[in-house]
This record gives sequence, C-alpha cells and structure tokens, in this order.
Amino acid sequence: MSKVVVVGSYVVDLMSRTPHLPKPGETVLGGPFQMGPGGKGGNQATAAARSGSDVTFLTKLGDDVFGREALKHFTNENVNIDYIKVDPDQATGAALIEVDDKGENSIVVALGACGTITEAEVIEAEDKIKEADIVLIQLETSIEAIVTTVKVAKNHGVPVILNPAPYQEFPREILLDVAYITPNETEAFELTGIEVTDERTALTAAKVIYEQGVHTVIITLGSKGAYLYTGGDSGELIPSFTVEAVDTTGAGDAFNGGFAHAISNGSSVKDAMKFANAVAALSVTKIGTAPAMPYKHEVEALLAKAVK
Ligand code: ADP
Repeated sequence: MSKVVVVGSYVVDLMSRTPHLPKPGETVLGGPFQMGPGGKGGNQATAAARSGSDVTFLTKLGDDVFGREALKHFTNENVNIDYIKVDPDQATGAALIEVDDKGENSIVVALGACGTITEAEVIEAEDKIKEADIVLIQLETSIEAIVTTVKVAKNHGVPVILNPAPYQEFPREILLDVAYITPNETEAFELTGIEVTDERTALTAAKVIYEQGVHTVIITLGSKGAYLYTGGDSGELIPSFTVEAVDTTGAGDAFNGGFAHAISNGSSVKDAMKFANAVAALSVTKIGTAPAMPYKHEVEALLAKAVK
C-alpha cells in the first residue's frame, strides 16, 4: 500500500440553498441546509484514501463540535489522524456556502485553525514524511506550513505534488523542489499571466511554469481532462471520462487525491492522470466534496469499461 502524506486545510462545509444570493445587508430565507466535511486538504486526503492509499493527514482543528466531527470522518475513512492537531484557542475552519436556483454560488472560507499550521507542527511529522511515497499539498493553509513541508520532503528525497489552489502568493523558489504541479485554468493564469482556454494556451502556460522549476506540469481543463507537459515542444491532453455531471465542486480535489494515489503506487504519469481523471469524473456525478469521492472499486470499474 503506497503511503501518502497530505498537509493542508480542513473546513466544515455549511451549505444552504437560496432563491437568490443575498445582497449586502439583505437576509434571505434559504432552502435546505447541508453540512459535510470539506477543505482542499481534507477532500484530497479522503480521495486518496478511498482510492486505496495509506494516508496520513496533517491539519489543525478547533476543540469544538466541527473538529470532533472531522476526527470521526477521517477515522471512518481510515485516514491516519495522529498528526491532526487540536488547538483549544481556535475554531475549526468553516466554508459558508450559498447556492442559488441557477447554481451560482458565493462562498466565504474562514480557515480558522488550519490556516495557522506552524513550522514546528510540520517538523513533528518529519518521521511520517520521511517514510512517505508522496507528499501532497495545496495553498489553502499558512505559507509557513507549505514551505516547511516542501523543505522536509526534499531533505528526505520524497517527491511533492503541489496543487496551487486556491491561489495565493507564495515563495516561487519552492517550485524548484516540487516534482508535480497541478493548477486548474484559473491557477495557471495566476502563475503565468496566460489565459488558459484550450490545449494551445495550456502548452504556452505549461512552458512558463516549467521554466519556474517544476518539471512535470499538469493543467486540469475541467470536462476536457488534463494537459501534461514535461519539457520540449509539445504536451499531451489526457482526456476526461464522459459522465453526467451534477456537482463539479471538489473535482480538482478528487483529481489530486487520485493522482497522488496512482503515482505513489508506481504508475506512469500518464496512467496516474488517467486514474485521476476517472476519480474526478466519478466525483462530479455526486453532490458534495469529500462525501462525493469514489472508492477504488468504482474507479477500477470505470477504467475497465473505458478499455472495452
Ligand atoms: P477544479 O475543480 O480545480 O476547478 P477542473 O475543473 O479543472 O478543476 O477539474 C479537475 C478534473 O476533474 C478535470 O481534469 C477532469 O478530470 C475532471 N472533471 C471536471 N469536470 C468534469 C466533467 N464535467 N466531466 C468529467 N470530468 C470532469
């Protein structure tokens, strides 16, 4: 079983339907309320664990009801919670999500405890990082945690996947020590200033990211799939699977969790992207983020069907 360490965010998703998104100062009577585990780190950890990896998740929670629910969730998912810190002085992160009748949303993410992971807290997990096959990080936590994770992984020769989401400025020199980077179109724009809309523009942006130091660039292109560039004149689109999409939130998280699982299990980059596309495609057929992540047998069934 491949070992994956995920360092990143946990937030509880608090979602309400609403006839229309409230204007400033307005109170709207909403529709059904839904609550579930979320945050990019937590979603990606869940996706990798359901894909079949041995996952350790490093994050920070508050000593509150949402934090206790999070620990229950990760225990149920067979994710190692030894490095999930509980900080009595902070609240567990929360995403306040409103979705209107047209499917438009507006979201406030209050990172709370998981936004304050320190260098020392990452170093506490050094032994775990040392024995990992892959380390997976996002940008939804403190820069200190991100930079330290890359440094510790590098010191032990463990490859790092950076999912640069949601985009925030970070010290670009860490890209020299990142093995794989997985921006979506928006994040690719933030990294390069190049609008990515198709394979041609994906290639142009990927070349710029490659020059910044990461030598396997994977730009996810929504329902089109994901574009791979590893140097030279051209890259390659690894196409997605055709499914009936009902909720695409968390698609990128599914892709990253699936990719981390497959690449740490010894797959080639292209095969790992194919696996990741399958995980992500299945995730968009269900509502929610972490709860929508598919299990290994579902992914294998979709891959087998595609071969026939
Ligand atoms: P994000 O969720 O970060 O915006 P993308 O929209 O690029 O990321 O989606 C990530 C991956 O999810 C894609 O590379 C693809 O594999 C898969 N995906 C997204 N939308 C669909 C869809 N409608 N049908 C099938 N796969 C999809």
